[in-house]
Amino acid sequence: MERTLSIIKPDGVQKNVIGEVVKRFETEGIKIAAMKMIQLSKIQAQGFYEVHKERPFFDSLTDFMTSGPIVVMVLEGDDVIARNRKLMGATNFKDAEEGTIRKDYATDIEKNVVHGSDAPETAAFEIAYFFNGLEIQNR
Ligand code: GDP
Repeated sequence: MERTLSIIKPDGVQKNVIGEVVKRFETEGIKIAAMKMIQLSKIQAQGFYEVHKERPFFDSLTDFMTSGPIVVMVLEGDDVIARNRKLMGATNFKDAEEGTIRKDYATDIEKNVVHGSDAPETAAFEIAYFFNGLEIQNR
């Protein structure tokens, strides 16, 4: 059993595809162990994307991530980090495989609907960034 952090980014919430994204997880047998809707401040977004602070798109990305509400979730299941990444598709929707979330809903390399942790260490950091232990259910 593994956990990962998933975010439906502001563009995904705006496009009204929260249910569609959640359905894809549940259809794959992935369980939602925690879930909430929040809106990040600039400082909170910068802290979350700290690893990208030297990238040229850091300021634009953190502006985008604060531009509206997001849905943050802890997903639980076997090999869920990799399975979620596969459901998401490539960072750039133009490179994403058919049937992935980003291929179906993303419109831009930055506005790409979903975030998912890419490794166990980042998952641990990212889950703890948004949720305390009492907010996460063992499913
Ligand atoms: P991910 O793990 O697939 O989300 O991709 P990365 O960790 O490489 O990048 C984090 C996020 O930054 C992506 O999901 C995009 O929202 C954004 N991003 C990545 N590359 C670019 C880029 O070249 N330009 C812009 N504007 N945003 C980018």
